Amino acid sequence: MNWEDNIRKVVPYTPGEQPQAARLVKLNTNENPYPPSKRVEQAIREYNTDNLRKYPDPVIGELTVALADYYKVNKNQVFVGVGSDDVLATAFLTCFNSGKPVLFPDITYSFYDVWADLFRIPYKTVPLKDDFSICADDYIGKECGGIIFPNPNAPTGILEDLAFVEKIVSANPDVICIVDEAYIDFGGVSALPLVDKYDNLLVVQTYSKSRSLAGARIGFAIGSEKLIKYMQDVKFSYNSYTLTNQVIHLGAETLKDEEYFKECCGKVIATRERAKKELAALGFSFGDSVANFIFATHKSKPAKEIFDKLRERNIYVRYFNKPRIDNHLRISIGTDEEMDILFEALREIIG
Ligand SMILES: *Cc1c(COP(=O)(O)O)cnc(C)c1O
Repeated sequence: MNWEDNIRKVVPYTPGEQPQAARLVKLNTNENPYPPSKRVEQAIREYNTDNLRKYPDPVIGELTVALADYYKVNKNQVFVGVGSDDVLATAFLTCFNSGKPVLFPDITYSFYDVWADLFRIPYKTVPLKDDFSICADDYIGKECGGIIFPNPNAPTGILEDLAFVEKIVSANPDVICIVDEAYIDFGGVSALPLVDKYDNLLVVQTYSKSRSLAGARIGFAIGSEKLIKYMQDVKFSYNSYTLTNQVIHLGAETLKDEEYFKECCGKVIATRERAKKELAALGFSFGDSVANFIFATHKSKPAKEIFDKLRERNIYVRYFNKPRIDNHLRISIGTDEEMDILFEALREIIG
């Protein structure tokens, strides 16, 4: 017996690289290529550093109320965390305690199985269909401890409609269903309107992608008051002060700049649709992404080879060495200029 026998051993999630070189085209972690709202800049400029002396508001009031107003829900239906990763981890810990397996797709956000392992939550992965869409029937009539899937799914980018989400949520009233809407603002329809109808639904969103604030770490969940209260109890049993007071304020400020938000999402969507045409012309195929990335495979060149050759040119995309998707690349949507550099490099590599 030694102390290592008593360590909680985990295989951690592998985040995308954050290379620090100055001149590179970074299309590997689905960040927004446009800067945050000017209101964020102003909030930081006007920030009174004396505030750092004090603990931040443990209930994250200003941002919680701003989100409640924005999404037209009660403030007791909103949970805010340090990025949606923190929100999702809290939700796993709070919701999935039946001992029965939690269900999620075999191809999905690769943090779900890591949290499940970390928290000793049993889980079962459900294969996507061959076209990488989720089969709703696989989540109906099954004994399970809960359900989670991103919509649009990651890394496929494929969106399921509201009727699909409702079908799954309504068929599983005895467990919590989490819809991870990290990419919903790029053309999807949110399940938020269903929250008042189903108290077993938790919708999770993030500022990291559509609001250009991955570095600020803001995520939130909206659900029934009862469920949110249980999540708050878990949070306050673990770490009361999560967001900094500066981030709480700039998070609220961001929501006031709807025009800029719409403009940035619109630009990403337009570039994505152009990228689909360019990639198709280069011999790639892909599902019809509604996210800020495209998950593509090439008809002749292996994905790993393209990945390596792009990297030599300081162009970073994401490659997953995993079953079923090890011949795919996930390409985040950058600015039009960045995408043109990518297409030019791909033309050279593919020949
Ligand atoms: C990016 C992402 C998240 C996490 O985002 P945060 O930066 O932690 O808010 C969660 N789920 C999915 C599917 C994502 O792609």
